[in-house]
Amino acid sequence: MANDISFLTGINDPNLKMDKSGVENIGNYKVIHLVKTGTCYCPVCGRPMLKNGYRRQPVKILALPIANVPTILLIRKQKYICKPSSQCPETVTKIAEINGINHGCRIANNVKQAITLDLRRNESQKDIGEQYYVSPSTVGRIIDSLEDNFTPEKSWLPNTIAFDDFKSGRFAPSGMSMILMNPVNHRTIDIIPSRTSRAFRQYFYRHFTRRSRLSVSLVVIDLYGPYRRLIRELFPNARIIADHFHVVVQAYRALQSIRIKTMNHYGPGTHEYRALKRFWKLLLQKLSLLDNIHYQPRRNFRGAWLTNSEVIDRLLAMSEELRIAYNYYQTLVDAVDHENQGELQSLLQRKLTSLPFKLQKVQRTLRQHQNEIIRSFRHHLSNGPIEGTNNKIKVIKRTAYGFRNFFHFRVRILMALKNPHIMVGDPQKTKISSSSLAA
Ligand SMILES: [Zn+2]
Repeated sequence: MANDISFLTGINDPNLKMDKSGVENIGNYKVIHLVKTGTCYCPVCGRPMLKNGYRRQPVKILALPIANVPTILLIRKQKYICKPSSQCPETVTKIAEINGINHGCRIANNVKQAITLDLRRNESQKDIGEQYYVSPSTVGRIIDSLEDNFTPEKSWLPNTIAFDDFKSGRFAPSGMSMILMNPVNHRTIDIIPSRTSRAFRQYFYRHFTRRSRLSVSLVVIDLYGPYRRLIRELFPNARIIADHFHVVVQAYRALQSIRIKTMNHYGPGTHEYRALKRFWKLLLQKLSLLDNIHYQPRRNFRGAWLTNSEVIDRLLAMSEELRIAYNYYQTLVDAVDHENQGELQSLLQRKLTSLPFKLQKVQRTLRQHQNEIIRSFRHHLSNGPIEGTNNKIKVIKRTAYGFRNFFHFRVRILMALKNPHIMVGDPQKTKISSSSLAA
């Protein structure tokens, strides 16, 4: 019988037996009547206790749905008594407890575990709750109970850390939060609510010991200037290296804005306007990947049969500024891709006055961070993981909406990403102990 119950409900308690009424359907529910008895030992003297009837009301426990039908366990619990004796000076009474159901909790632990695993998926708290017939706020409480699992270890930071910001909306005063990650193994360490210097400093002083901060030797970061001083203060032993993605993005943005400027110069309705609008992706494609073999008829060029590479030639002929911006962007992409220090240096030596206005600003920024960029070439750290993370966060924000607080948002992100705190990939290996799931 006990085996049947474990098979039905996933609750493994050998002393949990089917009661007389068995299983019945009441309304939209399946109700399983159970009785919990068995030997119970006195917590004071250690001897078996006397059975003393049953608790008047059976306890009502929400179990995992069976065949998509919400399932309630109605459990009659044995009461026990140990009468006063020489070993046991006072009367001791107890009520049977059940393995897999926390004392005083109305939801079986395996339901909470199933919900916890589902938090990795991109679904709202409401949708997850509906699957298990619990309210969204119960799902919220389960998230709250995970707090301990998601506290970063104070005394440890990896040798190399990386930061990137992401839009977090109303959770941060600036609308931006930060991801802290290990770019070597691509694990997310934590989400920092705000990217202001004050919040940033506070976060590290509060969450990490001085020793762990001293152990950081490389910090990968974007080209935003104000962080530099703070990073030197928080991580005195660290060298800063520039994140490749943010290096290339500088020129990418300048190229896009010069393309739009050129379009507007010709004006809507012109052939140049339409061609520059149509082929924007081609302009951003890496030169080394540009197709110069396959001919296709191009409507934008009166049906002429052109390769992609020839299309680019025609676009660049429309504006000298565009040509310069294109060459600048492509040279930068190539230098970063091939970690080519010489190519980067000669690009950054170009005279400011030879560049369009938008690129002058880029040139100044890149010159300012030249050493950080060159240093990044030696460490071969890819910016891929953070980019991927940012996309995942976007998706989480879109579908799993309705976060009541930053902590819920943070847990959902950390559950969806690879992170060192918690192994949720395989239920067998889950580190979430049933005690930490107490609602
Ligand atoms: Zn006793």
